[in-house]
Amino acid sequence: MSPDPGEERRFLTDRMLGPLCRYLRFMGYDTMSANSRSPGNTREDTELLKISRKERRLLLTRDQELASRAGAGGVLVRSEDLDDQVRQLTGLRLIHPTLKLTRCSRCNAILAPATKEEVTRADYAPSVKEGLAFFTCPACNRLYWYGSHTRRLQERVGKFSDLPHEG
Ligand SMILES: [Zn+2]
Repeated sequence: MSPDPGEERRFLTDRMLGPLCRYLRFMGYDTMSANSRSPGNTREDTELLKISRKERRLLLTRDQELASRAGAGGVLVRSEDLDDQVRQLTGLRLIHPTLKLTRCSRCNAILAPATKEEVTRADYAPSVKEGLAFFTCPACNRLYWYGSHTRRLQERVGKFSDLPHEG
């Protein structure tokens, strides 16, 4: 299932892949998580397949059976380890691991430049705001900015960007 040329790849992650989902959002990828749906649905696998087809989202799963049901519309994520997961997707050329900070890691909404009021209101914002660019999530109001945390994230995802590609 390849996206149209120019269309950014979109993902749907299963319940085992919460951390990977957040990382994909940090990299700017439109990623829906099964964790945002109510738990306990015995037909969840079938619904995830339906959503992935309808919304043209590549289904990422740790479940062998679900992955084979998805066929070309899914990828079996082989490792439990986040770094390995990012490495696998990079090797398959499904993602380009660069920190984008365009999307909320909690709810997938597109971030917008933050107003002065929004920056002031967030008690977790850095006290020295000079020279920092702030973004806010229109859905959950979380504030984002480039700082030491994003530098660490960039270092973590950046080490995957020069990997040789698989087959
Ligand atoms: Zn949000």
